[in-house]
Amino acid sequence: MLNFDISNLPTPYYVVDEALLRKNLEILKSVQDRTGCKILLAQKAFSMYSTYPLIGKYLAGTTASGLFEARLGREEMPNREVHVYSPAYKKSEFEEIISVADHIVFNSFAQYEKFYPDVKASGRYIEVGIRMNPEYSEIETDIYNPCFKNSRLGTVLAEFPDTLPDGISGLHFHTMCEQGADVLERTVSAVEEKFGKYLYGLKWLNFGGGHHITRDDYDVEKLVAIIDRVQKKYGVQVYLEPGEAVALNAGFLVTEVLDTLKNGMELAILDTSAACHMPDVLEMPYRPNIIGAGSPDEKPYTCRLGGPTCLAGDIIGDYSFDEPLKIGDRLVFCDMAIYSMVKNNTFNGMPLPAIVWCAEDGKCKTVKSFGYEDFKCRL
Ligand SMILES: *Cc1c(COP(=O)(O)O)cnc(C)c1O
Repeated sequence: MLNFDISNLPTPYYVVDEALLRKNLEILKSVQDRTGCKILLAQKAFSMYSTYPLIGKYLAGTTASGLFEARLGREEMPNREVHVYSPAYKKSEFEEIISVADHIVFNSFAQYEKFYPDVKASGRYIEVGIRMNPEYSEIETDIYNPCFKNSRLGTVLAEFPDTLPDGISGLHFHTMCEQGADVLERTVSAVEEKFGKYLYGLKWLNFGGGHHITRDDYDVEKLVAIIDRVQKKYGVQVYLEPGEAVALNAGFLVTEVLDTLKNGMELAILDTSAACHMPDVLEMPYRPNIIGAGSPDEKPYTCRLGGPTCLAGDIIGDYSFDEPLKIGDRLVFCDMAIYSMVKNNTFNGMPLPAIVWCAEDGKCKTVKSFGYEDFKCRL
């Protein structure tokens, strides 16, 4: 099932599989080729930059949430587009943003007014846009819903001027999360209904992220039809900036059982932590799959897996196995490329997992490993 051997390298480590990453990139590229849209990697989800030369062969560039991601995109995927959107820019960072960005999206007209003179004076050609808040989203969890009541993300229609000011060549919305083309269809309708009059005459329209394009049941045909229609109707270049979809199911986290014990049920302590190494398990929250394991009671031996930190809630979940877990057993968590490495931390003095690349021939290479200094240097 796995394209590589998990018995050699020291745990814990994230491993990204080239064949699986390429599979996603092929799908994304086919959408670009069929429609002429441009797709960017949202680095917020996945910033393992040793993969950027590969990703840059398929996608149009990167998008960033601020200066550091923008710099990373410029440095590691040069000759591709660098887009930046930030809820608010800092004067002290903006000069450097101007020096690396091709597109800058502002969250408000006040931000545009503050910084547009600098963009204009820079001598670099930069596309400038505004993030709209269409006040339409089907995301049910508020923490992930940019359109929840009183959201600070994007400008609502009521705050738009009658005509767009000088220099604004595009608009941006981002209102989706792990969703399908049907949600995009309804979202685009809402955007057209509210902001339609601004769309004619723009150069580009950015559909944001949250498109689960590389998931098995995603309706790529519908996506292609939406992009075709919008590009034709308004004469715009459509951009998509998925994060998840780029590396969806392309990575794993390999861990080892450190101890087993009992308290009303079987328990195991792993050398990986939900809180430190897969924080979305606690924040989203969600239950990652483990290769060869089932839901509780599906297989004969059910066990609760927890991390080695002192946080009581550092629990990954309950899983069932064919055999009882033993000290030294290795487990492989699935879909651990996205929102993992970019969010991990050294709480409780936890070591960070190494980052491993598994090439298409099955050979694994440690791209980066971490030690005590990585814990100490931030404190
Ligand atoms: C988070 C984010 C993305 C990427 O979202 P995914 O859900 O990872 O596809 C793209 N654009 C913006 C503005 C974002 O905040």
